[in-house]
Amino acid sequence: MTLAAPHVSASLTADLTDEIYVGGSWIRGAGDPIESIDPSSGEVFATLHAATAEDVDTAVRSGSAAARVSGWSTMLLHERAAVLHRIGNAVEDNAGRIAAVQTLDTGKTLTETRALAMSAANTFRYMAAAVETMDGALTTPRGPWMTMSTHEPMGVIGAITPWNSPIASDAQKIAPALAAGNAVVAKPPVWAPWVTLLLARLCDEAGLPAGLLSVLPGPGRTVGETLVRHPGVAKVTFTGGTSTGRHLAHLAADKLMPITLELGGKSPTIVYDDADIERALQGVLYGIFSSSGQSCIAGSRIFLHRNIFESFTTQLVERAQRLRLGPGTDPSTDVAPMIALRHRDSVADMVDAAVANGATVLCGGAIPTEGALAGGAYYPPTVLTDVRNSDAICQEEIFGPVAVVLPFDDDLDLVEQANDSVYGLACGIWTEDYRRALRTAKSIDAGTVWINTYKQFSISTPFTGLRDSGLGTEKGRDAVRQYSNQKSIYLDLSDTPSTWGRNR
Ligand code: NAD
Repeated sequence: MTLAAPHVSASLTADLTDEIYVGGSWIRGAGDPIESIDPSSGEVFATLHAATAEDVDTAVRSGSAAARVSGWSTMLLHERAAVLHRIGNAVEDNAGRIAAVQTLDTGKTLTETRALAMSAANTFRYMAAAVETMDGALTTPRGPWMTMSTHEPMGVIGAITPWNSPIASDAQKIAPALAAGNAVVAKPPVWAPWVTLLLARLCDEAGLPAGLLSVLPGPGRTVGETLVRHPGVAKVTFTGGTSTGRHLAHLAADKLMPITLELGGKSPTIVYDDADIERALQGVLYGIFSSSGQSCIAGSRIFLHRNIFESFTTQLVERAQRLRLGPGTDPSTDVAPMIALRHRDSVADMVDAAVANGATVLCGGAIPTEGALAGGAYYPPTVLTDVRNSDAICQEEIFGPVAVVLPFDDDLDLVEQANDSVYGLACGIWTEDYRRALRTAKSIDAGTVWINTYKQFSISTPFTGLRDSGLGTEKGRDAVRQYSNQKSIYLDLSDTPSTWGRNR
């Protein structure tokens, strides 16, 4: 049944069918209805009935059976890779459709959602290539044996994702987990469930054996937590907020189950006085205000060398004010609405609290209340000054288009301030002195450092969060290994039996 609102275009309506994907069957969820709201207008565009705890059980059991019965877990790697290639190609062929659904659901610009779709397509193809070329090892024998190290599927993987880059996050987990021979039960976010369901339809059409992938939209506290606690789930891979991740780590510990956590950030961006200023301005602007700042790696703490503090801040503010706020469907939009009114309001509250604490707003800082923007979840690019690195606004993740600017005098003081955070996700460094850049890059506690660029990604390059930013690594060739159990095999080659116990 389709429950899309009348104003939704006919081409999109077909992808908004009120069905979830459980163990190879498309069914109407028996859970509460989720109203999907277009962030650009505040209007409900579709209703989806959520999954239930019983669906989690069905999906886990079906996944486990499908991996065995379809032969997926024992399939020759190049044959498994061929299916993943087909999925990657199907995602690319449907990138426009995927982008339209995701823009409607998350408010993001079509440029961004198309790029996310292409990233997902590339992830499936990369993981196909990775698994097809992944050798086991003959280890050096230390006795009369042949010794081997092999990698086996783990079983059923739970994949829990946030709303900020849905299809890319889905692919980052689902592709390597499937490549390793597992089944996957995906739990997309309540605020953006549709694109994961569309991905499942494409996997289905591309020939992924039925039951191997289930998609169970629904609340984290019920559907998500049941998935993590389920005894049939061998590993969970989670991307989301730090407090949720910490809670899930406790649940995983109780089961002695491995869990990968990609969590929040409050990343420093450092501009030295010898930087290429034009390059730095554009990079810093993009690093914080693209995706409306709703990015774990947003460069939200901007450290400027005191020699350039005034001039750089002035130019940054001028450019931020020129960014165009608008709906994600308008090609001229730079900064699209936030995911939801509730989230936008929490961003506004954090800015208001910072101002009450002495911060000065250089631009933005107020919810648009007039014209076409009034109904949507818009918040303007905001730059704050007169803050200390220890202030809440510099320490807490805002997940919105809000930057703070802080001056620094010397490298030691800078590194100390930049590292003074519970997070350790990313860092940007802008300087023409590559010795200085590398010295600073090595001193900063972060999983990823960009030098004279920012927020660039490659599926072949691993992604890790330190401290409260996460546990474990995603992406890269070894991503497939993260969803495998290592097994050692000893094959006896001796000509005579053991003499143990023969002396008595
Ligand atoms: P969230 O933690 O609220 O939710 C993430 C997912 O977990 C959702 O699917 C949610 O339904 C589910 N969930 C919530 N409570 C749960 C529970 N008790 N048990 C099981 N599942 C539960 O995060 P969010 O608001 O959706 O996303 C924003 C956060 O994600 C930010 O902190 C951001 O930094 C982080 N993030 C991190 C990365 C990264 O790679 N490090 C990437 C993107 C987003």
